Amino acid sequence: MILTNSGSNIFFENAVRALNIPDGTAELLRRPWRELTVSLPIRMDHGGVGVFTGYRIQHNGARGPYKGGVRYHPNANKKEVESLASLMTWKTALLNLPFGGAKGGIECDPLQLSENELKQLTRRYIMNIEHIIGPQRDIPAPDMGTNAKTMGWMMDAYGQVHGYEPASVTGKPIELGGSLGRESATGRGVIYVLNELAKEMGFSVNKDTSIAIQGFGNVGSWAAQIAYQEGYSIVAVSDIDCGIYNSNGLDIPRLTNHIAKGGTIKSFEDGETISNAELIGVDATIFIPAAIENTITIDNLDKLKSKVVIEAANHPVTPDADQELHSRGVTIIPDILANSGGVTVSYFEWTQNIQQFQWDEIRINSELKTRIKNAFESVQGKVAKENLSYRDAAFQIGIAKVAEAVELRGFI
Ligand code: NAD
Repeated sequence: MILTNSGSNIFFENAVRALNIPDGTAELLRRPWRELTVSLPIRMDHGGVGVFTGYRIQHNGARGPYKGGVRYHPNANKKEVESLASLMTWKTALLNLPFGGAKGGIECDPLQLSENELKQLTRRYIMNIEHIIGPQRDIPAPDMGTNAKTMGWMMDAYGQVHGYEPASVTGKPIELGGSLGRESATGRGVIYVLNELAKEMGFSVNKDTSIAIQGFGNVGSWAAQIAYQEGYSIVAVSDIDCGIYNSNGLDIPRLTNHIAKGGTIKSFEDGETISNAELIGVDATIFIPAAIENTITIDNLDKLKSKVVIEAANHPVTPDADQELHSRGVTIIPDILANSGGVTVSYFEWTQNIQQFQWDEIRINSELKTRIKNAFESVQGKVAKENLSYRDAAFQIGIAKVAEAVELRGFI
C-alpha cells in the first residue's frame, strides 16, 4: 500500500469502506499508474554543475488525460508528489472534468535560483519527461513556486520535440494561448465556494464576516482580492516571513499594490505584525490556509478561533486534526472542492487551445461559477442526506466516479 506523508490515504480508505469498492478496484485506485523520477543537471551561474531531482507522478488516467501542477519547492519529495497526484484524481472527478490526476515536482528552492537557472531547470525537466506528457496524455500546470512564465518555458521545450502545441500545458501567459482568468481562478474558486457555504450556513457576504488568509502567493492574494471585492473583511494575511493583522479589515488593493511595487507583508504599515503561528489564532469567522500542507495539526488546533476552514492549499489540515475539528463542530471545506477553480479554468484553457478560439473573461468566470456551484451542491446534498463531513462527502463522490470509470473501461 502506498503511504503518503500527508495522510490523504486515510480519507481515501474511509471512502473505499463507505462505498464498498471491491478490493481489486480499490488497489488500482490506491496506486499511481506511472511514476518517473529524473535527474536534472544544469550549469549554475557560478560555473559549476547543479544536479536536481524531478518527479512526474501519474496517479490515475481512467477518466481522461492526466492533469496536475508542477511544484518547485525544497520539500517536493516523491511521497508528497504521489499524495498530491491522487488528490488531483479525486478533484477532477468531483468537478466532472474529463481528466485523470497527476502531479510534478522539482526539489529546489526557486527563491535561491536565478532566472537563467530556473529556465534551464524547467527545460531540462520537460526534455526528460516529454515522452509521457502531451495534450492527450498528461497536461502540466503551475503550482507552488511556478507561474505563467514557467509554463511558457515548458510549452516551448515540449514544442522543440513535438511541434508547436499550446494545449500541452495550462497556466501559460495569455500571449502564448493562456486563458483569461486562469491566474486568478484558484483564488476566485475559493471565494465562490465560500459564497455557496455562506448561503448554506447563513453568514453574510459583508464586513460582518471576517477572514484570515495564510499565504499571499497566487492563490492567497487572489482569494484576498476577490473576497475584498465581494465585501468580506480580510483581517489578516501572511507570507512565509510573517503576517499582518488589522481588526478593522486590511486595505487589500493597497496591499496588493504595495507588493506589486516590490514591498513585503512585513513592510506594509496598516496593521500589527504577527507570526504565522499567531495567524491561526486570529479572531476571524473564516480561516483560509493558502500556503503549505500541515498548517493545522493536532498540536495547534486549540488555537484556532474560526468556525470555518476553507482549504485553499492542498493538505493544510492533518487527518487527526480534521477528525478532532469535525467533532468540535468546525466546518472544513476540503481542498479537492475548495481549490478546484484552478484546474477547472485549466480545463477551459485546454479546450480553448484545442478549439483555437479564445473565450472572454466574463464567460470564463461565469462557467467557473456554474461548475463550482454544481460541485458544491452535489457535496452539500450528500452532507445533508447522509450526515457526513464535507471532506467525506467530496471524497466519496470523486472516488466513486473514478471507480466506475475503471470498471467501465474493463481493466479488471
Ligand atoms: P505560491 O508559491 O504562489 O505562494 C505560496 C505562498 O505561501 C507565498 O506567499 C509564500 O510566502 C507562502 N508560504 C510559503 N511557505 C510558507 C510557510 N511555511 N508559512 C507560511 N506561508 C508560507 O503558491 P500558490 O500557487 O499560491 O499555492 C499555494 C497552495 O495552493 C499550495 O498548496 C498549492 O498546491 C495550492 N494550489 C495552487 C493552485 C494554483 O493554481 N496555483 C491550484 C490548486 C491548489
